[in-house]
Amino acid sequence: MVPIKRLLAPNPGVYTLEGTNTWIVGDEPTFVIDPGPDIPEHLAEVAREAGTVGAVLVTHDHPDHSPGAIPFAGLVGAPVYAMRLAGADRLSPGHRVRAGDLDLTAVHTPGHTSDHVAFFEPGDRVLFTGDAVLGRGTSFLDPPEGDLVRYLRSLRAMLDLDARSIYPGHGPVVLRANDKLREYLAHREEREAQVVSALAEGPRTITELVEVIYAGYPREVHPLAARSVLAHLLKLGGEGLAERTGKAEEGPWTASTPRTCQRCGRQVRGKARYCDSCSLAMLQSEG
Ligand SMILES: [Zn+2]
Ligand SMILES: [Zn+2]
Repeated sequence: MVPIKRLLAPNPGVYTLEGTNTWIVGDEPTFVIDPGPDIPEHLAEVAREAGTVGAVLVTHDHPDHSPGAIPFAGLVGAPVYAMRLAGADRLSPGHRVRAGDLDLTAVHTPGHTSDHVAFFEPGDRVLFTGDAVLGRGTSFLDPPEGDLVRYLRSLRAMLDLDARSIYPGHGPVVLRANDKLREYLAHREEREAQVVSALAEGPRTITELVEVIYAGYPREVHPLAARSVLAHLLKLGGEGLAERTGKAEEGPWTASTPRTCQRCGRQVRGKARYCDSCSLAMLQSEG
């Protein structure tokens, strides 16, 4: 088994649970995943525990994961890899990073953020998920950077890896990776059904939808819930199943029936009159 050690950054909060998990992976030279915020005491402790570091990896550029990466790399003299971080080597999807005799593969998992990557170790089938999957609770989506359509695709892509266990950016290790990923998919489906059924009763603002769907939750979570409901509405909007009637994001939003292409009869995205292939065909025949 690949040795994996967790050091918890001292940044507990609503988004971060007990704090950010910094993972030290493998024998020396080690990988260090998500050094967290730039907290010198934490970075010094990680440096002591990690020994010789082969590579520093960053899952995404949120302030609870990435600001410590460049200072930490300076401290230990190792390269930093991220999809979007000034001063880091740029990761591309599928990129394999090596430290000692261990390879970690960068799996692009947009949705929480567009630059989000998970790191997969295929030998032991362990997956480091950053904020795409947490050890407890759900991942937070804040549009427009947060995108539910891309997020669901990423959850399915992670299922395809058939990982054994998940080492998340926050919260405890998840021992049944696929069960957790299916639970996450089911949770979003359930939320979507709640939004659809609320809209079926008439136009609703986001605040009204949150009041109904999150009735059993403390009011403190309602502002976060509103962002998540917006993510669902934007997805439904793209599918032609919901429409914003108000000027602002807040709505009101109404249910709508998906339109069909006026040329071929297939379903089109949003308010388009023609499907993508018919639009293209018509454009080409005009030229
Ligand atoms: Zn994040
Ligand atoms: Zn986070």
